[in-house]
Amino acid sequence: MLSYDHITLDPFQTSWLPAHLSAGMLRLDKIHPEISGNKWFKLKYNIAAAKANNCRGILTYGGAYSNHIAATALACKEAGLHCTGVIRGEEHHKHLNHTLQTAENNGMELVFVSREDYRSGKAANTWEMMFPHYHIVPEGGHNAAGAKGCGEILSVLPAIGFTHILCAAGTGTTLAGLINSAQPYQQVTGIPVLKGAQYLEKEVAGLLQPGGTSHWQLLYGHHGGGYAKKTPALIDFINSFYNETGIPTDIIYTGKLVMAFRELAQQGYFPENSKVLLIHTGGLQGNLSLPPGVLSF
Ligand SMILES: *Cc1c(COP(=O)(O)O)cnc(C)c1O
Repeated sequence: MLSYDHITLDPFQTSWLPAHLSAGMLRLDKIHPEISGNKWFKLKYNIAAAKANNCRGILTYGGAYSNHIAATALACKEAGLHCTGVIRGEEHHKHLNHTLQTAENNGMELVFVSREDYRSGKAANTWEMMFPHYHIVPEGGHNAAGAKGCGEILSVLPAIGFTHILCAAGTGTTLAGLINSAQPYQQVTGIPVLKGAQYLEKEVAGLLQPGGTSHWQLLYGHHGGGYAKKTPALIDFINSFYNETGIPTDIIYTGKLVMAFRELAQQGYFPENSKVLLIHTGGLQGNLSLPPGVLSF
């Protein structure tokens, strides 16, 4: 299906990177403009399971701005599978935003429910009953099949020489896959982009498999005010990082990841001569919600 040929591992230098550290960015954002980065890895084995079990299609759910919704629509289209997306917030059906329009254009059947019904339906498995014989992909692609796919991220390009691996965390599925597939000497660090995300500790632990690294950590102080909060400092940072490296990042996940990397590097989190691999998990289409001209790319 999707080819990994466009993925690169770009070493980068910046004015703030201490001389004793080296850094590289694994550019999963280059896989595809819509199936951004990690989302494809999370969906891969879910799609395979839906096909193997002759399911009628894939059923998933999420918010109106969910990268996961857009990615699922396209992945199902490529796989020739029907898919339904349950969307939180009835009001969104009146005017489809960019994410939902893309999903619908790619064939996803959108079902809009109120926030209350969304919450209670999720808790009571209502949709599983409404859509029998569908393969269910939980919100954000958070399941064992998702983590299994993310376990393949580090084998796309040789990541053996890196001492540290850093990624942004939403549901923590990508982080779990990285931990499961990292070398025992590698330290894997997740940067939650949500405020109060301490519950991730258990969510990640629940997806771990033997054989990876036992050195992993979630660092909670880098959400920059909470999910999708964009400060002028973040926007400035994203622009200057692009100007220095040519690497575009997004306002929700990867911009905060690189900003956290700068803070950690300056605080001495990394021992001398560490080699740090940052995972670019994509999400660039989310920048389309900004007025033109705010970002320099
Ligand atoms: C969804 C997403 C994430 C979060 O991945 P999880 O596996 O849920 O932690 C990170 N970065 C980008 C760009 C995303 O779209």
